[in-house]
This record gives sequence, structure tokens and C-alpha cells, in this order.
Amino acid sequence: MKKMIYWSVLIYVLYCAGIALYLFWFSDASIPTEWRGTSADPSSFLTSGEQHLSERYSDLKNFLYFASIPYDWFVYLLILLLGISNMLQKWAQRATKAFWVQTALYVFWLSLIITAAALPLELASYHFSRAYGISTQSMSSWLRDEVTDFLISTLLLFFVITVLYGLIRRFEKRWWFFAWLISIPLTIFLMFIQPVVIDPLYNKFYPLKNHALEAEILSLAQQAHIPADHVFEVNMSEKTNALNAYVTGIGSHARIVLWDTTVERLKQEEVLFIMAHEMGHYVMKHIYWGIAGSIVLAFFGLWMVSRLMSWALAKWRKHLRIKAVGELASLPLLLLIMSLLQFSVTPLTNMVSRYEEHAADKYAVELTEDADAGISTFQKLAKAGLSEVYPPYLVKIFRYTHPTIFERIVFLEQQKSENGHK
Ligand SMILES: [Zn+2]
Repeated sequence: MKKMIYWSVLIYVLYCAGIALYLFWFSDASIPTEWRGTSADPSSFLTSGEQHLSERYSDLKNFLYFASIPYDWFVYLLILLLGISNMLQKWAQRATKAFWVQTALYVFWLSLIITAAALPLELASYHFSRAYGISTQSMSSWLRDEVTDFLISTLLLFFVITVLYGLIRRFEKRWWFFAWLISIPLTIFLMFIQPVVIDPLYNKFYPLKNHALEAEILSLAQQAHIPADHVFEVNMSEKTNALNAYVTGIGSHARIVLWDTTVERLKQEEVLFIMAHEMGHYVMKHIYWGIAGSIVLAFFGLWMVSRLMSWALAKWRKHLRIKAVGELASLPLLLLIMSLLQFSVTPLTNMVSRYEEHAADKYAVELTEDADAGISTFQKLAKAGLSEVYPPYLVKIFRYTHPTIFERIVFLEQQKSENGHK
């Protein structure tokens, strides 16, 4: 067992060193020569100071991302190998006979340990975000969000685990299929309540305050045949300098949301371009495609989880200190396998998302016929969030749910020259 821990530490350290070399040393942020000096060139809209800051900031953020995922795996593995999971289970079993209370106790303590282990990296991320002037959130507000995260995820984990382990104990082989069946209404329910129940726990939402702007947006919505009567604004300026807007929720709870930072710092035609982009998502039903995609992925994912759990137990039962899959103590293994699988499909899901985002950009430029508003919007987005205009390849495939700022501006420039938009 000592050997297993020793090896995983060594592999993790080497991996981090490799990532650091790639991000800080080998990756090249300079854009292709033919686009130098154009609106897609960061030096045309960022000062050299801002360019330098954005490179440093992105390198740090990217490093933290790549370091934190295997770090989680390492934490799960340690919880198993050191017998912590086994100990928690025994303790919960001694405390009560009722399975759901055992689950509640076990899940609470496991969740607390995992959250505590992740805290240093979370703090580092918050610290850098403050240091580079992106986050404006106070420490107490940040901590409040962390506690909210912990409570929501622990509660959700408790419900999911009670049902899941109930199924595993009943259907040793087929549990994954029944779990998948139950996951379908659950996914839809969560999507439904997200904008009305979960999001307001973090921030304040209200109808757009600027009525003239709202009227413009609603007339654009009418042009796009969207039956919208409100656009929502969310108070984000207490937390960040970055700009954003998004569509969320389904059915009667679907809504378009604008960050107040976006309303304050963009010109009207730029806000309208963003709104047209969001309407593109709505018109092309991207949320529903997203739900369908996650249901399909969950089917294969849960099947793989069930196979990998049995395989890992057959091989390392003793080391992992788990007797059967249906034992609560196997939860860290389940989380480890799920996280591994999720990470491995990230490039694929990001690629689909980038495709949809590109389609929404295309929709926006066709609806507004104003490519210039789009170009200046993307420039301002990059400036406000110190985001990388031209990120390294690995960063793009693992982290970019949107095309890069460079790609988005290049596309709009091409639209301008092809269609003679202004
Ligand atoms: Zn979008």
C-alpha cells in the first residue's frame, strides 16, 4: 500500500511539472502572422501591460485547473488507501441501524474531508483572481459561497447516494441501468429549478433595470420569434469585473440573464449583439440538445462505472479496504471513477459546446447585421476578464466551452468581408 501511495505522489508531481513546463515555457501566445495588426490581434485592443497581465493570469489559472483535477483523484485514493472511508463507514454503522441515517453521517463527513482537501487550491484561485483585479468579492462573501456550495452538493450527494446504493444492493448487476432511468427526470428537474431555486442562493436576480434597453432587447426577441417578456439582470459587480450573459432553465422558467457588469460597461449595440447570441441558443434549442446529450452520456457513463467498480474491486479489494460494491465505503472509488470518466469526455463535450457557441455567433451577426458590435464586444470581454485571446492547444481542448476570442473575431471579420456587414 505504501508503494501505491508513493507511486501516485511521484506521478502527480511529475505530471504537475510537465504541465508547468508546457504552460509557462513551451506554449506560444503569439497569433498567426496574417492576423497581426488586425482587430483579432490582442495588441490592437490591449495595452502591453494588459497583455502581460492576461498571459500571467491565464497561465496561473490554467495551471491550477490542470493541477486540481488529478489532485481530487489523489484525495479520493488516499481516503480509500489510508482506510478513512472504511473508518467512517464503521463509525456510522455503530451510531445507528437506519441505513439512510448511516448514509447521511457518512456522506456529511466524507464531503467535509473532500471540501477541506480542495480548499487550498480554491483559495489560491480566489487569491489570484483578486490579485489580478478580476474578482472584487470580499473574503466573507467568497466564504459564504463556499459554504453554500458545500451544503447544496452534500445534500444532493446524500439523496443521490441513498437511491444509488439502495439500487446497488438490490440489483448487483443491473443497478446502473435503473440509476440511469432515475437520472433522467432528476436531470430535467435540476435544469428546471436551477434558475429559480439554486442560482438565487448565490446572487440577486431582477428584471433589467434599464427600460429603454429592455425595450430594444424585446423588439429584437420579437424579430427572432421568441416569446420573451423579461430579460433578467444579476448583481455580479459585487463579485467580479468580468462580463457575461447566458440562457438558462427550461420550460416556463427559461430565462435570458445579463450580468450587471455587462449592462454597465457595454454600449447598447454591443449588449444587443450579446442578446442576439443568447437568442441564437434559445432558437436553436441548445439547452434541450444539452439535456439529451447528457442523458446519452449518462447511459454509457453509468455502465462504464459499474464495470470499472467491479474490476477495481476484483483487483485491489484489500488495498482499497472495500468488501463489496454496495458498501458505503466504496463511495470515494465511485467518485474517482466518475471524475476520471468525466475528465476524459471533457474534450468532446467542449467541442460540441464550441460548435454551438459558434452557431450562436453566426446567428447573432445575421440577426443584428452588425459584425463590428460583435468584434468590439469580444475585445471588451477579453479585456475585462483578462482572458487569453489565443490559448495553447491543450488549454483550448480541455477548458474552452466557447471558441477562443481570436477565432470569434476572425469569424466576424470574415463575415464582414463576405457579406458586407458593417
Ligand atoms: Zn453562448
